[in-house]
Order: sequence, then structure tokens, then C-alpha cells
Amino acid sequence: RMTRLRSRLAASNNSMGKGLLGILAAGTLDESVWEEVEDTLLGADLGVEATTELVDNLKQRVKVEGSASPEQLEMWLHDELLKLVDPTMDRRIAASRQGDRPAVVMVVGVNGTGKTTTVGKLARVLVAEDKEVLLGAADTFRAAAADQLETWGARVGVATVRSDKEGADPAAVAFDAVKDGHDEEVDVVIIDTAGRLHNKVGLMDELSKVKRVIEKQSPIDECLLVLDATTGQNGMRQAEVFAKAVDITGVVLTKLDGTAKGGIVVLVQRELGVPVKLVGLGEGPDDLAPFDPKAFVDAVLD
Ligand code: GDP
Repeated sequence: RMTRLRSRLAASNNSMGKGLLGILAAGTLDESVWEEVEDTLLGADLGVEATTELVDNLKQRVKVEGSASPEQLEMWLHDELLKLVDPTMDRRIAASRQGDRPAVVMVVGVNGTGKTTTVGKLARVLVAEDKEVLLGAADTFRAAAADQLETWGARVGVATVRSDKEGADPAAVAFDAVKDGHDEEVDVVIIDTAGRLHNKVGLMDELSKVKRVIEKQSPIDECLLVLDATTGQNGMRQAEVFAKAVDITGVVLTKLDGTAKGGIVVLVQRELGVPVKLVGLGEGPDDLAPFDPKAFVDAVLD
């Protein structure tokens, strides 16, 4: 999977690494060079704070050493990026039975980010680990959402997909799914939720209610926010809105196969204080990978 992450990133229009290394190798490290480095990092959605930190640290290293070869600069850049991505964060997904109850995973995010696809792919990973998975289609707003989840369920070998008709109460579907999960003694219940953003307040109220209603029966072990890596700063603003409504425990960054803006990983972790746990690398059932900081930095600088 990591090899695939590498090659996918390399195959995408990922120019951040080469750009940076090219700039740093070009000659004297004067202020205009550092500015170019900053522009490249900002262009990759790293955010102002992290960009400043990284460049300051690089400058400091150069100052301490007196000079630096391109190889040394590449090594330092690698170190500094890895520090920003923070390899110490716990990126495991809580998806094993907790005593006498299933783990509960809630998945939130704006429509179109790849939420339902991610639920399907995640279910596939868990089924492959011999886990029994139950899916709940709590997006009752979009007519096709339940069908889409049922299709994914059938595709990846999930026995039960709990849904209701369009317009039904999403919190009730979530409640029933968790209850069924208890009764059927499954390992994990994954709840897909609605993500229409045109009515932001309504959506956030709905998600808070879904959360509250689930918590009447069971703690929520994992609440994954799905973000589309190609949406950059917009995605960041969405993330902040969701973080107010639910307690996000991790981020799934989708469509990383289609963007050079990997810096969003750093930005989102800093802003939300939770790790990127999974990345989406395509539309197929196997295109979900655990986020590996080291492989990620290698791929970015490849
Ligand atoms: P939802 O509205 O958030 O549930 O989004 P969907 O799961 O329906 O996905 C929206 C579109 O994004 C679909 O065409 C998916 O196939 C596509 N998609 C989802 N994840 C990825 C990914 O990691 N990479 C790519 N290239 N496409 C993705």
C-alpha cells in the first residue's frame, strides 16, 4: 500500500518536492531563495504558520552549519517536513469490539468529498481483517445515498446495511444501526451521515443530534472527518465547522491521487489537533491506505 501511495503521489502533478529541491540547489541561499521556498510551501497548502516554522528551522540549520550542500538541504527538508507531519500521533482506527459492544465509527463530511466511498473502502479493510461490519445509512436526505451504501456493502461483503426511506430521521437510523450492531454482536458499526452544506446550521444541528442519539446507547469510538485534499483552504474551513458539531478523532484525506497539495495534511492536523489517519488514493475498493508520515514525506520529496 505504501508503495502505491508513493507511486500515486509521484504520478500526480506532485511538484512540491522537486520544486523545493530545485530552488534549494540553485545556488546561494539568499532571501529571495527562501521566499521562493515559502511560496512553494504555501502553494501546497501547508499554511502560513507551518511554512514559517519550516523555513525558519531550515535557515537556522544553515546558519549553524555555515553552509549546506544540496544533499544536506534535502535531508534537513525531509526532517523538518516529517516533524510537521508529526509521526508521534496515534493513527490507529478504533474498530474492534469494546468488551460486550461493537466499536462505533461515525463518518462525517461535506457531500462529494468521498464519504460514502470511504465508508465502503473502510468496511472492506475491516472485513478483510475478519471483522463483522454493520453499516448505517444516516444520510436520509439524499435519495441515492442509502442505495450507494448498499451497493458498497454488497461489494465488500457486509451482511447488514441499515437504512430507511428518504426523509426519515437520520438520528433514528443511526440509533437503529447501533442497536442492531449490539443485537447481532458485530465487531464494528460504521455510520455514514449527511453532508449537504447549503444549510450549514441545519446540518450541524442534525449531526449533533445523531451524535447525541448514538451516545444514548454507546460511546462513539471514532469520528472520522472526510476531507477532499483537492479543495485546499475551503476544506479547512469546512473542517472547522464540523469540529464544532462533533468530536472529530481523525481525518480521512481523500483524492490525494489527484493533487499536489499534500500540505493540507499538516494544516488540518494543526488546526484540528487530530491526526490524518487514512488517505483515499482512488475510486476503487482498495484505494484506501493508512496514513504513513514517513512514506508521505518521502513521496512528497520524491
Ligand atoms: P460523498 O457525497 O461524500 O459520500 O462522496 P462519494 O463517496 O459519493 O464520492 C464522491 C466522488 O468522489 C465519487 O465519484 C467517488 O468515486 C470519488 N472519490 C472518493 N474518494 C476518492 C479518492 O480517494 N480518489 C478519487 N480520485 N476519487 C474519489
